Amino acid sequence: MTFTQRTAHLKPEGAYQVLARANQLEAAGRDIVHFEIGQPDYPTFENVSQAGIEAIRTGKTRYTPPAGMPSLREVLAEDSGKRRGIEIHSDEVVVSPGGKPNLFFPTLALVEPGDEVIYPNPGFPTYEAMIKVAGGVPVPVPLLEQNQFSFDLDIFDGLINKRTKMIILNSPSNPTGGVIPATDLEHIAAKAQEIDCWVMTDELYTRIVYDGLEAPSIASLPGMRGRTIIVDGFSKTYSMTGWRLGYGIMPKSLAERVDLLLTHSVGSTAHFTQFAGLEAITGPQGRVDEMVAEYQRRRNVIVDGLNQIPGFTCQKPQGAFYVFPNIAGTGMGSTELANFILEKAGVALLPGNSFGEYGEGYLRLSYANSIENIYKGLERIRAAIQEI
Ligand code: PLP
Repeated sequence: MTFTQRTAHLKPEGAYQVLARANQLEAAGRDIVHFEIGQPDYPTFENVSQAGIEAIRTGKTRYTPPAGMPSLREVLAEDSGKRRGIEIHSDEVVVSPGGKPNLFFPTLALVEPGDEVIYPNPGFPTYEAMIKVAGGVPVPVPLLEQNQFSFDLDIFDGLINKRTKMIILNSPSNPTGGVIPATDLEHIAAKAQEIDCWVMTDELYTRIVYDGLEAPSIASLPGMRGRTIIVDGFSKTYSMTGWRLGYGIMPKSLAERVDLLLTHSVGSTAHFTQFAGLEAITGPQGRVDEMVAEYQRRRNVIVDGLNQIPGFTCQKPQGAFYVFPNIAGTGMGSTELANFILEKAGVALLPGNSFGEYGEGYLRLSYANSIENIYKGLERIRAAIQEI
């Protein structure tokens, strides 16, 4: 069968492929430690689940306006604005089933065939997929380890030009856990204004930051609101991956376009899910803080452990729940090593190159897993590597 050019390039996410192989091994009786999955290991917080259940019980099972319930859009405008020190109106907020539609649809609304889009590499695979579906030209900018995995600004300066329609940022980053420092954001914002292009800032992990740090948003910088799309969501912060709830914040006219794309694709986000989201935002936030404190403990354990494995060196990331160790010292490539570790040690993790070519020479491990499993996985990797 032949497919349209706009979809022929699509590939599954690496995490799903590794998970499928890990599941096969488990079905054959192997014990597998899972570091491949990018989702919190916590159940959805009880108050949030109860709000969703109560909403179903009381008939909140209807269509809603495509861009979301007005009450949720208002609450999100207030909360997101306060966190970023900016004023946001509810008609600039678009609620969607997960954050992903708010990556995809603004891209479809803004990028014409042939337009260039700058994006981080290694980066979340959806960026390249959506740029190509829109007919745009993906322009990867390497994230440098020696720069805490922020953009290489010299390369960025060499790539941005009059054909650049949009710059995609992701801070804290999947897959590196890196946070883009304010000085880099200022540099990127100045260039975006000079070239007159859009910035899409994926801030799904903005609440998952460590050591008292905050991840600054480019949307807070002067002159940026009118050209910035903030993408955020509930999946990671409130452990709600399967509820499918996210949102975008963008200028009103773009929000209206995205509303139309939602109207003609998904219709709306599930009604009761939006009630769960209302409770997540307006209810107590202590569970988020506890979860982040626990991730920080796990991060410290996994980084220390990885640095003791021969051939591995690992930076201490400041956000998200991923580590991205450099494995050059093992003499093996990313895919070869990830396969070896899965088959030999029963530890599922991802090759860095499943996030783009500049991820070669790295692995990605998600530490959204218990401390016991982290110790067990590290020990198994160490034992397997010693046999090489
Ligand atoms: N952006 C990044 C960087 C992610 O890692 C993810 C999920 O893994 C998403 C966006 C999409 O999340 P969701 O659609 O569940 O809100």
